[in-house]
Amino acid sequence: MEGIRGTQLMETGSPVGGAAPLSGAWVRDVIDALTSFRPALPNGTVPDGRAELIDQLRALEDLKSAAAAAQARIAVSFDAAQRSAETNLGVPADERGRGVAAQIALARRESPAKGSRLLGLAKALVSEMPRTLAAMDTGQLNEWRATLLVKETACLSAEDRCAVDEELAADTGTFDGAGDKTIISAARAAAYRRDPRSVTQRASHAAAERHVSLRPAPDTMTYLTALLPVAQGVAVHAALSRHADSLRSGGDTRSRGQIMADALVERTTGTPGGITGVAIQLVMTDRTLFQGDSEPARLPGYGIVPAGWARTLLNGSSGNTKHGAGPGESEGGQELKFWLRRLFTAPGTGELVAVDSRSRLFPAGLRRFIEARDDTCRTPYCDAPIRHFDHIIPWHDGGPTTLTNGAGLCEACNHTKELPGWTAQTGATTRAGTRHVLGIRTPTGHHYQSTAPPLPGSNPLGTGPPDTAPSHSRRRRKQRHQAKARRYAHLTQLQVA
Ligand SMILES: [Zn+2]
Repeated sequence: MEGIRGTQLMETGSPVGGAAPLSGAWVRDVIDALTSFRPALPNGTVPDGRAELIDQLRALEDLKSAAAAAQARIAVSFDAAQRSAETNLGVPADERGRGVAAQIALARRESPAKGSRLLGLAKALVSEMPRTLAAMDTGQLNEWRATLLVKETACLSAEDRCAVDEELAADTGTFDGAGDKTIISAARAAAYRRDPRSVTQRASHAAAERHVSLRPAPDTMTYLTALLPVAQGVAVHAALSRHADSLRSGGDTRSRGQIMADALVERTTGTPGGITGVAIQLVMTDRTLFQGDSEPARLPGYGIVPAGWARTLLNGSSGNTKHGAGPGESEGGQELKFWLRRLFTAPGTGELVAVDSRSRLFPAGLRRFIEARDDTCRTPYCDAPIRHFDHIIPWHDGGPTTLTNGAGLCEACNHTKELPGWTAQTGATTRAGTRHVLGIRTPTGHHYQSTAPPLPGSNPLGTGPPDTAPSHSRRRRKQRHQAKARRYAHLTQLQVA
């Protein structure tokens, strides 16, 4: 581990030009050394090596922190290099630096939102908190703990932030042995001493961050989280509590928590039970729907749900069904509680088959296909919900309105893709079989690609039908599959309204 201490990683050179000391080959050597390294196992002849193993753990922890510090400096240099190139091209000042965070995100295998936070962190560390950065170089702070210090001083002016950084002097070992909470309190106290008014004003900035988000929880449950100003949050909770108390005193046997959760759903959606015309769109195989097959379904915005759960949802919705005839089928009338729509897939591969369009805009049927295929934004590492249906090769460059040339993107990624120097293409098939591939080329000439997630009923690698049954039934299944192969396989999209 000698020779890779932070001080040697610091000299990343000027923003543009010059051979970087952190060349790919140098880093590759370090990685090779790490991956071929095997810790000594105890045996009769080698003495107990436990102290050495602990030293190795610590040395690698130091390396990770120093690497994060180097990444911060590199991110700032990359930002400066792009801005200077844009200045030379005459790009207006307020338009420079767009797409920098997105490129950092791709390189670091993070979402664009995380990329933008990492760039903000890097700029704060390099320009305003040099001692915090130095503490990362020596392993005294890791990237997360440096992030905490940056976050807690975000409301201060650059000058005050520098002063707090100086006061905390993290590089002198002030945070040796300190946990996350200790670090947060120390930073908060220093920030408050320096500028009490800003810290108080921060509350009003925080209110602008209010939002509601959804993330999956185990067992087909989900966390609906609202970040609210404290008064509103308390008011919502008190209203739900009062409602629960009054129903329970009237003999309702549900628990307090259950009543509060039910009331939240009913009051927000305006419907008892909470499922309204706002679509819940399950994608599943026909075998799962009609033949009790165990192949799981996919619920957009949540992910994979068990087959039985999907069927229960269907049985629980009373009403008429209507079978769609295929893509482009118009929805049923108001009286329908739910309807089914067939999504055709190429047999065995799980690749969706859709009717293409001559129009410039993606028609509703094609959009539903893209939504079912992509599930979330298709930019690599971005899981944001789909907001735009994008021509991968732009319409004005002759890109057709087809399933293959369409991609679901979030709003931020759609804007990034339009920036100068960014191009996209539909990739050829990869080892993931025939699933749809989106390739992105960034202004630096780097390529990234994302493969559409596997559809229910397709092999995760997209190379053929699921093949998990024992051999005798596998043979029979294969025969059945071959018999079906001349026809299209199909998925069903169940929409509850
Ligand atoms: Zn995105």
